[in-house]
Amino acid sequence: MRFEHESLTQRVVFASGAAAARVRAEVERLGASRLMVIASAAEAGLAEAVTTGLPVVVRWDEVVMHVPVEVAERARAAAAAHGADLLLSVGGGSTTGLAKAIALTSGLPILAVPTTYAGSEATSVWGLTERARKSTGADARVLPRSVVYDATLTVSLPVPMSVASGLNALAHCVDAMWGPRVDPIDRALAGEGIRALAAGLPAVAADPSGLEGREQALYGTYLSAVAFSSAGSGLHHKICHVLGGRYDLPHAQTHAVVLPHVLAFNAPAAPEAERRIAAAFGADSAVEGLERLRRAVDAPTALRDYGMTETDADASVQAVLDAVPEGNPRPVTAEDVRRLLRAAWRGADPRTTSNEKESRR
Ligand code: NAD
Repeated sequence: MRFEHESLTQRVVFASGAAAARVRAEVERLGASRLMVIASAAEAGLAEAVTTGLPVVVRWDEVVMHVPVEVAERARAAAAAHGADLLLSVGGGSTTGLAKAIALTSGLPILAVPTTYAGSEATSVWGLTERARKSTGADARVLPRSVVYDATLTVSLPVPMSVASGLNALAHCVDAMWGPRVDPIDRALAGEGIRALAAGLPAVAADPSGLEGREQALYGTYLSAVAFSSAGSGLHHKICHVLGGRYDLPHAQTHAVVLPHVLAFNAPAAPEAERRIAAAFGADSAVEGLERLRRAVDAPTALRDYGMTETDADASVQAVLDAVPEGNPRPVTAEDVRRLLRAAWRGADPRTTSNEKESRR
């Protein structure tokens, strides 16, 4: 056995119902005395609850998905003008993403309090959008120093968004199984992440205010992000990145729709990943396990429901082809991509549009 694995340095605190006390302890541990609190207007109430009594010098609520450069510039200027010494983000992936954009240029530490299952808090990946083009990169400066997970902060996340966000986390696990730098540790974390998410998400859908499902979902989210950050973007993330950037599609929902199609495409050529994913779902096959979960949580099914057109699907083929990561379990042709995008666009059953079967024609 020969492999290299880099563990990222980060403190992670799971503290259901105790975020306020644990955030205070982390602020003290980091020696901060001038906090910039970042939370969108919709997340302000959650942020208020965990920051009362803390030394806040500025509260920032201009948060936009995919972090437009202009928004990042304004937030960076505010951090500098107020002399902030810690960025405290309370919110979903968009909020964490803005904190990362500030940290990227200022080197300020981040304390992240996630309120969705996006997982950005546990990766060193940043993203910025300029003139409708999203660029991403990895930088140690943007990895939050500490993360406080409190499942009670996710109870207000509506069920459809919880489901889409949780499937975004699941996509991190699945794509990590064949990411360009995947190693056995990533696969172990991703397998446990799938198990936790497959248990947690139906419980969230059935009892949105119950904590057990929410806790499992957050635990799975963290594992998914650690595995993904180490393994790197596989075919699934590359496709979602291309589509999200070109058509401004909602991030989590795009992942939720595209995932079963990439899994159906890659799984027959990736026997170890297929076996591990199936085992994590407790199903006969990986695709069957994912479909069972998707039915149980009423997952989003079609990109056309988010404003994409069939012409958009065809027009994206070359961009996806250009982004196919090295080492994908099977070669990818233009016809494969066209078929996959069309299937995701119209919401076809990934089992009946088996790319394996079609490619043998
Ligand atoms: P989001 O952060 O945009 O949140 C979605 C909506 O839910 C927003 O309106 C938000 O205000 C609301 N919300 C958040 N928490 C809530 C709560 N507890 N209760 C009620 N409403 C709540 O969406 P997201 O899917 O969490 O994040 C998507 C963004 O994160 C994208 O830009 C994506 O690129 C990025 N992302 C980055 C990484 C990474 O590693 N860098 C990983 C995953 C996602």
